[in-house]
Amino acid sequence: MALTPMMLQYLEIKDSCKDCILFFRLGDFYEMFFEDAKTASRELEIALTGRDCGLDERAPMCGVPYHSADTYISKLIEKGYKVAICEQVEDPALAKGIVKREIIRVVTPGTIIESNMLDERVNNYISCVLLNKDSFSLSVCDISTGEFLVTSGGGSIYRVIDELSKYNPSELIIIDNDLPIDNKAEKIIKDRFNLLLTYKKHNEDDNIFLNKKFSNLDGFNENEIIVCSCLFNYIRDNQKSSLMQITSIKKYMINDFMVLDSTARRNLELTETIRGKSSKGSLLWLLDKTRTSMGGRMLRKWIEEPLISTDEINKRLDAVEELISNVYVCGDLKEFLKNIYDIERLISRISCSAANARDLMSLKESLKNLPDIKSALSECRCEMLRNIYNDFDILEDIYNLIDKSISDNPPLTLKEGGIIKDGYSADVDKLRNAMKNGKGWIADLEQKEREITGIKSLKVGYNKVFGYYIEITKSNLSSIPEGRYIRKQTLSNCERYITSELKEMEDLILNSEQKVIDIEYQIFTEIRDKVAREVVRIQKTARQISIVDSLLSFAIVSFENNYSKPVITNDGIIKIEEGRHPVVEKVLNSIFVPNDTYLDLKDNMIAIITGPNMAGKSTYMRQVALITLMAQIGCFVPAKSASISIVDRIFTRIGASDDLASGQSTFMVEMSEVSNILQNATKNSLILLDEVGRGTSTFDGLSIAWAVIDYISKKIGAKTLFATHYHELTELEGKLSGTKNYCISIREHGDDIIFLRKIIRGGADQSYGIQVAKLSGLPDEVVIRAREILSKLEESDINKGIKLNLKQDEVAATIVCEDKKEINLFNFKENEIIAELKELDIMNMTPMDAINHLYRLCTKA
Ligand code: ADP
Repeated sequence: MALTPMMLQYLEIKDSCKDCILFFRLGDFYEMFFEDAKTASRELEIALTGRDCGLDERAPMCGVPYHSADTYISKLIEKGYKVAICEQVEDPALAKGIVKREIIRVVTPGTIIESNMLDERVNNYISCVLLNKDSFSLSVCDISTGEFLVTSGGGSIYRVIDELSKYNPSELIIIDNDLPIDNKAEKIIKDRFNLLLTYKKHNEDDNIFLNKKFSNLDGFNENEIIVCSCLFNYIRDNQKSSLMQITSIKKYMINDFMVLDSTARRNLELTETIRGKSSKGSLLWLLDKTRTSMGGRMLRKWIEEPLISTDEINKRLDAVEELISNVYVCGDLKEFLKNIYDIERLISRISCSAANARDLMSLKESLKNLPDIKSALSECRCEMLRNIYNDFDILEDIYNLIDKSISDNPPLTLKEGGIIKDGYSADVDKLRNAMKNGKGWIADLEQKEREITGIKSLKVGYNKVFGYYIEITKSNLSSIPEGRYIRKQTLSNCERYITSELKEMEDLILNSEQKVIDIEYQIFTEIRDKVAREVVRIQKTARQISIVDSLLSFAIVSFENNYSKPVITNDGIIKIEEGRHPVVEKVLNSIFVPNDTYLDLKDNMIAIITGPNMAGKSTYMRQVALITLMAQIGCFVPAKSASISIVDRIFTRIGASDDLASGQSTFMVEMSEVSNILQNATKNSLILLDEVGRGTSTFDGLSIAWAVIDYISKKIGAKTLFATHYHELTELEGKLSGTKNYCISIREHGDDIIFLRKIIRGGADQSYGIQVAKLSGLPDEVVIRAREILSKLEESDINKGIKLNLKQDEVAATIVCEDKKEINLFNFKENEIIAELKELDIMNMTPMDAINHLYRLCTKA
């Protein structure tokens, strides 16, 4: 038995795309075979059948109709597969032997251009990374917009993960060199980003192509060239297009922006909330009032990349200020921007020859608003908007080209005509006239023939099989003049005829119809190519629009929420008067209590914030970080006034972020985050530490917290907000330079407490844990019992007796009171276990008994 020729062809093609599911075109279907068929039928929930392939057993097979393939492809892509699309590339009627087939495109999560598979307001990035021992290079591209970036940095894979979290790519290529990343890092990458990972060897030939396409790669180092060429070629090989939309590669320095690691991004809930993982409740959700998808993506980028240059920040702030103050400009821009489609993605599809006539219409409709936008901008005086105005290309020639050539309501497909406007092409007009005349002649034919024959019921009709015909009922057949008609078809009650003139006219009409479709298609592609050649200009205008849209969004949000313009400095001081948390104040049902902040590099470097749970410590700390970040993205801030000294990084260690995926305990994660902060913070950083040390025993935790503050104060000198339960830490004020105590005030009301939410100088004197527990709905019985236990403990006067000792070996789980009485607080389980161990008669136990005992003890511990 031997494989059929078609199967041989299938296997040969499949061999070239082993890591893809191959969609193999057979007539009106894309078929999948063998393992691909099993996978696809499972994932797509479609029937698995079989097909004779020449061997004893039938080949497993499943298929999808070609016209609905997009839906199936996008499902597979979402599930993390790559799909190779193989088409018939010659007319089956003309083929000698088996029809020639080729892969025309490989669809992968990072190489999608179809708008229905993309999220409008989110870039779809694909990235490539090269890891060396202590450094890395990274390239990032969004082929749906043409953006292509490259950078390099020092550090391990974890530093790469931080940079990647800015882009959240859907696909990552790792260059396969001698330094493979360890399994743990690979798992973290996969879990964090839910992306498709491909390993790829670098090929020297790739560089040659890159150098040919982009002339300006002078400032790139060798590794940057490698990550760019590898990424570019991967996309090109999959897309099988020349990628005209990628017009340049931009190199940036990681330190050109505020550095935010993935923990800080998550904790500050910049683009999604920690719990719901939804954008609602994030800073982006609050700030995004953009009218266009391009603006939406730009604003997200700004939030992901806060600036560190005073000049750049002030340019944005001045623009926002001007837009707030100029109601007319603001109103006009709002109005005109809302009519603008996604020009960036349209031009990318146009460049890839994937755009239809409706896409060109959308482009035209968008361009129509550009003169109005320009005229609105002409009123602006600030540098940023002025520069945009001066340099704003309204793309009139492109508008005119589309306007005069493409009909106003073109069909979706390009193969049915009706695309080109009358008057644009003499050829099209001539053929259309011929068709019109022919059809007119036929329309008159019925009347004419009725008169000649005297048959009133004579009809002229058309069907697809026989074309035009003259129909005469059986009872009238005798009235037909001799030799006038040629018989074509006999039906039960009538006969159908043609004449040679009618046949000629029919040929003319049908030929013209096909010809006009062909010519229209050709003209359309010429126009599309002409527009594509203007990609650089169009992309520039699109970018300017997205900037204007983002600034306008800042202005709208700032105005609506009563924000104020921050003063940007480099004096090391963060001074906020009546600051608010931008998101909490929006979602809170009650009034948000504003608070002041003063941090500097000297006496007010570290704020130790005490106060009961629920008092508002985390909210306060995050509000300081968010106000600083908002100022550095160029937005007004929720405060009466703010003077912000630029920070290079914001670090956060907040809450329990279990990294179960990496198999680390909560405490380990906490400590590794703290150590990351201590190793990387500079005196220009802002550090938020919430409850550091909580994950371990009181004394361990207290000791660690103490030592961390000590280190920050003496070695780093960074502005720090440190929220803690450990009242003992308030002793640091006066002893350790730069530390100041703050607490969030509360009022006692009998057995209860009322949160006042106001931050004041000084340490909290009580933790009010039981009162807060009561508020949270803990059963009364438990609350009452807790009070009893507390008062017993207080009788023993534990607090007074605590002697803080930083030496590890002296940290104990027992507390020694002043009267030398030991209260064993935490060891009861261990004591119980030790007692049980002592009881065991080891010598007389079977190994199985021993194991069972050990197991029981473990579950108790
Ligand atoms: P803590 O960190 O002290 O446990 P949180 O910062 O989580 O407390 O605050 C608890 C809740 O208190 C918040 O969810 C918010 O609803 C409310 N809250 C915090 N700060 C304020 C404020 N300044 N004004 C009004 N409500 C606040």
